[in-house]
Amino acid sequence: MRLSRYFLPVLREDPKEAEIVSHRLMLRGGMIRQEAAGIYSWLPLGLRVLKKIENIVRREMDRAGALEMLMPTLQPADLWRRSGRYDDYGKEMLRIVDRHERDLLYGPTNEEMVTDIVARFVQSYKQLPLNLYHIQWKFRDEIRPRFGVMRGREFLMKDAYSFDLTREDGEHAYNRMFVAYLRTYAALGLKAIPMRAETGPIGGNLSHEFLILAETGESQVFFDAAFHEKDWAAFDIDYDDRAAVARVVEEFTTMYAATEEMHDNVKFEQQVPEGRRVSGRGIEVGHIFFFGDKYTRPLGAKVLGPDGKEVYLQSGSYGIGVSRLVGAIIEASHDEAGIVWPEPVAPFQVGIINLRQGDAACDSACEGLHDALEKAGMEVLYDDASERAGEKFARMDLIGLPWQVIIGPRGLKDGVAEVKHRATGARENVGLEQVGAYLAESWRAHEGMVWQGRLSSYGSR
Ligand code: ATP
Ligand code: MG
Repeated sequence: MRLSRYFLPVLREDPKEAEIVSHRLMLRGGMIRQEAAGIYSWLPLGLRVLKKIENIVRREMDRAGALEMLMPTLQPADLWRRSGRYDDYGKEMLRIVDRHERDLLYGPTNEEMVTDIVARFVQSYKQLPLNLYHIQWKFRDEIRPRFGVMRGREFLMKDAYSFDLTREDGEHAYNRMFVAYLRTYAALGLKAIPMRAETGPIGGNLSHEFLILAETGESQVFFDAAFHEKDWAAFDIDYDDRAAVARVVEEFTTMYAATEEMHDNVKFEQQVPEGRRVSGRGIEVGHIFFFGDKYTRPLGAKVLGPDGKEVYLQSGSYGIGVSRLVGAIIEASHDEAGIVWPEPVAPFQVGIINLRQGDAACDSACEGLHDALEKAGMEVLYDDASERAGEKFARMDLIGLPWQVIIGPRGLKDGVAEVKHRATGARENVGLEQVGAYLAESWRAHEGMVWQGRLSSYGSR
């Protein structure tokens, strides 16, 4: 992609409304535009990141045996009257009346609808287990939308819902999602610590939140530094092996980790040696619940069991804040110059900077490399603007592409380009002909990495 044909409205000035770095960088980097409080347009660069995250989430859900579907954003109010949540949800729910005076609402979540679908089509235990998910826009009329996409009113969520015959099966479904979440965040380049959680308005008793650490997080968190030593990347797991799945859950839930609401300082001090007690701020990027028959009972989702008796299904729900993750990743990964994208979610893999646009040799070297890299399947953004080098460097650093290839007259004389790794700042001269192979190799080396820095840079306070 040539910058001259792209739509990348970067801002020179820091937008005043942005209180935190991710919001500022997303606005400055031309990723989003605010349309109303907590409601955003996703511009091409931002949308590329959103889609990458969405696809990683989708891949891991599919691997864990969940089935993708798509439910609408608008829901009939009657469904919510049956569960009793139409009134309970209060002002966070956006209520709409259509031309026939029928009450609708813009879905803040989907337990009722998916349970109603299951109630209609699942009659026998032989159709179980079932886990249905979708990736859909939600609306919650938050009192204080803020921090850009981190607390929006309209936001993209992946929500999955499990249905099982017995409590035991339901817990296995919960455990599968727990492991799938660890895998998902690791694949995004993140360590998200699972913490026991309150169940809130959704209810139930088994629940974990997944938090990534960032100074600007809304939650205070307390955890054992032993989490640093965990192997976050290695979860090659057989999801049907109940014991193996339960072991991973056990491994990640025995070490102390709690948000403020659940924190017990006495326990913390008993369980964690002083030097390993870490406290800091965290961003909630996912939340899983198991709630038994809380929704299946009022909505009539029951089946005939093997003994011929009718039983209400055991269900759980599993959310990931897909659009929040865009901001959360930036909070966890940036420097003074701008965003530092983890490889798996970067909007483009490589940026090419032409230091002397209009110079025949530079133009043709850049164009040749651009075409060759694209042909090799890489995502490339070629800065072909006729601006000063300083402007180009600043813009490329701001948008945070993992690799930069800088081509100018001086290097060209020796047949080399300079390749810069955005995260470390490391620079190397690489022969023009070798740039493709060099990038492919470097990419492979970094792609699967769960960045150590994200967790271990966090000291005790
Ligand atoms: P929070 O405590 O942050 O309001 P929640 O407990 O209300 O979150 P859930 O109902 O569990 O959130 O939704 C699942 C996920 O959706 C959350 O873990 C979070 O990542 C994301 N999410 C929730 N509310 C918002 C929002 N207003 N803007 C963006 N993402 C959100
Ligand atoms: Mg909320």
